Amino acid sequence: MSRSLSGLAVSPGIAIGEPVVNETRPISTLRITVPAEQVDAEIQRFRAAVAATIEHIKENRDRAAQQMGEEYAAIFEAHQLIASDPTFTATVEGVIRSEEVNADWAIDRVLEQLISRFEALPDEYLADRKLDVLDVATQILRALHGLDLGKLDHLERPVILVADDLPPSTAVQLPLDKILGFALEMGGPTSHTTIIARSLGIPVIVGAHGACEHAKRSRLIALDAFEGKIVFDPNPADLSEYESRQREYQGQQAALFEMRDLPTVTRDGRAIELHANIELPAEVEQALRWNASGVGLYRSEFLYMRMSPALPSEKQHLETYREMVTRMGGRPVTIRTFDLGGRKLAREIMGAGTEANPVLGLRGIRLCFSKPEFFRAQLRALLRVAGEYPAGRVRILFPLISGIEEVRYVRLLVGEISAELAAAGHRVHAAVPLGAMVEVPSSAVMARELAREVDFISIGTNDLIQYSLAVDRSNNLVADLYKPSSPAVLRLIAEVIAGGEAAGIEVSMCGEMAADPLMVPVLVGLGLTSFSMNPHAIPVVRALIRHLSYREAQRIAHRALQLVTARDVEEHLLERLAFLLARNKIHV
Ligand code: PEP
Ligand code: MG
Repeated sequence: MSRSLSGLAVSPGIAIGEPVVNETRPISTLRITVPAEQVDAEIQRFRAAVAATIEHIKENRDRAAQQMGEEYAAIFEAHQLIASDPTFTATVEGVIRSEEVNADWAIDRVLEQLISRFEALPDEYLADRKLDVLDVATQILRALHGLDLGKLDHLERPVILVADDLPPSTAVQLPLDKILGFALEMGGPTSHTTIIARSLGIPVIVGAHGACEHAKRSRLIALDAFEGKIVFDPNPADLSEYESRQREYQGQQAALFEMRDLPTVTRDGRAIELHANIELPAEVEQALRWNASGVGLYRSEFLYMRMSPALPSEKQHLETYREMVTRMGGRPVTIRTFDLGGRKLAREIMGAGTEANPVLGLRGIRLCFSKPEFFRAQLRALLRVAGEYPAGRVRILFPLISGIEEVRYVRLLVGEISAELAAAGHRVHAAVPLGAMVEVPSSAVMARELAREVDFISIGTNDLIQYSLAVDRSNNLVADLYKPSSPAVLRLIAEVIAGGEAAGIEVSMCGEMAADPLMVPVLVGLGLTSFSMNPHAIPVVRALIRHLSYREAQRIAHRALQLVTARDVEEHLLERLAFLLARNKIHV
């Protein structure tokens, strides 16, 4: 009889295959008293295990660099730092010596404290970094026991990997071409393994508690990484349904890939640009694969997140941006200055005080202003990179603009730094395009005036919805109130697009709403001509736009703006989308 489990789908797709279970739970440790005369030997045993682990991490780093590029290798550089952190080793050695206990027990003790410190971090991304610390500690424990350091390269045929956890050190050792999907008990949407799998198009479900136990008793499993469902030993009816959905999805992907070079124009000839949002320069591959018009949003704060607690130097900024712009060929790249603060920051690391409401606090451009030396380094690098390419290739975008005075101050700073750079002999353009993110209602309301002071606008709906509806975008308790279809949100967006048109500047949208097939027709109808989204979403949006006419999109938008509840807007858009899909026999 088939059994099923639910989890969180974090990388889409359907996989059907034989499960292979890999349990990596830390080895259970016992407290063993070490006689005083053997304490030094125990410390030597610990040091040897650390050295073996560092060596092993280096091998992983090289393998990752070879298989996936230098970006992913950075994950292992972070592991190397953890394993060779003198505070960590000294603390463990201190416990061995003071308590006269075995190294395993001492590691466990130190680890416990470290993990609870990570878990207390308000930022989800940084809290997820505890997985990296756990990964390194598990490797040291395995090395202490002389165990093979977690190699899983014996896979001969394609399988679904089921694991309690899949640390990135194990993930890169896998023959990833033989992995149909991952079902994991631990992990989250921003864990490194998820990031890697998503970029490789491997379906993943995380948070599937009990998956290992079920999988051990199963010969076949079906993984539905759209719905977040894992079916163990599916019955023939379920199996044939999953097989047919999988064929359908593969067919859609192949058809979409075929269309990658077709222009994104409506049936009546209105051209729309589809750009990519990227967090890691390595994602440029995906942007090119799906033929993005350019990078519409590079969230540069990920550069900081990967390097923290160190701040990137001007040179590191420069090299990262240069590599990305070069790899994008002649396509424009919009780089957003650090949007840290709110939930995207370890305040402890940045040295800022604790805030009761960080999302309303020192975040985005405000934090940049409060850290002038750190903002100037980024601006210098951006202006230098822009000067290396034809004018307009590199554009600078500023996050969380809430008032026109902020834009004016940014312009002043940019002018001052450009003059400094030119005096020092660097080539700088007279006018690098400067854009404001509209993600705060005050900016949307003032869009007409704002549009006269910037070169382009990008609407960040993720935050615009949060701030206009007073709904924390990461609070599950109010998730059902977070509504892109809210008439208030639509009216704000309409105002921004109209403001941009009146001033003759480009208005783009880079929030998740831009990738939502339900919202695309109304956005086109409101006059939006530039969208930016996760590269994997581009083909579906392109297909949809090619089957839409601007005139019907305008009618959809006109009607939507008359409605006064989110529910009515949603019903209207659903009905129109269903009609479009049926008329054109397309699936999204
Ligand atoms: C947004 O707010 O819509 C946006 C694109 O920025 P982020 O998601 O990084 O806050
Ligand atoms: Mg935002």
